[in-house]
Amino acid sequence: MGKSKVIAAWAAIVALVLVLSGCGGNAASSASSSEASDAQPSQASSAPVSAEQSEGVDYLALVNKLNPLPEGWEDALQTEHFTNTVGDDVEVESKAYAAYLDLKADLEKEGVYVDLDSARRSVADQERIMAEFTEEHGADYAKKTVAAPGYSEHHTGLALDLYLIIDGEDVVENEDMMQYPEVWEKIHARLADHGFILRYLDGDEHITGYGYEPWHIRYIDDPAIAKEITGRGITFEEYKAGKVYPEVSYDYGDSKLYTREELEEAAIQVKCSFAAWDGCELHSLRYAGDGCNTPENVKWLNEIDEGAGYAQVVELLGDFHSPTTEDEPTAWNLDTEYTDYQWWLGRTEDGGWQLVTSGY
Ligand SMILES: [Zn+2]
Repeated sequence: MGKSKVIAAWAAIVALVLVLSGCGGNAASSASSSEASDAQPSQASSAPVSAEQSEGVDYLALVNKLNPLPEGWEDALQTEHFTNTVGDDVEVESKAYAAYLDLKADLEKEGVYVDLDSARRSVADQERIMAEFTEEHGADYAKKTVAAPGYSEHHTGLALDLYLIIDGEDVVENEDMMQYPEVWEKIHARLADHGFILRYLDGDEHITGYGYEPWHIRYIDDPAIAKEITGRGITFEEYKAGKVYPEVSYDYGDSKLYTREELEEAAIQVKCSFAAWDGCELHSLRYAGDGCNTPENVKWLNEIDEGAGYAQVVELLGDFHSPTTEDEPTAWNLDTEYTDYQWWLGRTEDGGWQLVTSGY
């Protein structure tokens, strides 16, 4: 294998990991299948989808790190395939696809051009990816980087990852797409009209479990509900739970070691992990100070996460509230405010923050 091939293969793995994990940062995207040969041609103006065809799919189903794909979903699912502008086969739930084509046509009137990077991924696909990563990198690494099979919203066929076409050029890498906030604003303003919502809102990682993804949209069918969710600025989780979580307050202090951006990245990792703390409400996060980055602490995190090769440490402290009811079994004391809880993160010389451990 030549060097460029090795790099390309590595880039593909990195892209895949980030797309699958959501909480990995904002690096490369475009992890779609390259098996364009078995793709079907675009059916942009094909017959509309009847209601019966999509019977059995609950367009308001919540699938996230805590809620798996509902039983029987894949049997009931009706999908369409098409080939996107980069030549990849994309599979979308039928009614969501029709709505997407309307959205796309609507945006083109405003001079905004989009396509779909990725939509449906089956549970079997995810299991195969998990098995491959486990074999190559070990179970710990695989669990950290690949979304658990059954717990990705992309299984539904209703979650769509857009990419931009700017001046005729495909813009598919996440960090490149992030350079066009004004284009995303125009796109987001049109979503609800077609029954879509933006799924992973900026700052709400502690609720959704994912960092901000302007490209990941979710079809929920009913424009009235989509408008309500969008208008209130809430997450789909909050809509489904019938309650709105309080805002998180931040104090990044005055670090000589880390920029504010670096500390914000660490906080996003903590918040992504916090979303899996069922029923808990995060209230605040603060940086413990540069004193946390001692050789002893670096050594300690490298002992916990053997072979990780961390070179730097961040400690974040936070306050959160435990569940108020016993609906689900919980390890916490009920209805209690936990203060100064510690989250410890490490990073290698050239890597992003990894949450290593948390506790008192
Ligand atoms: Zn996505």
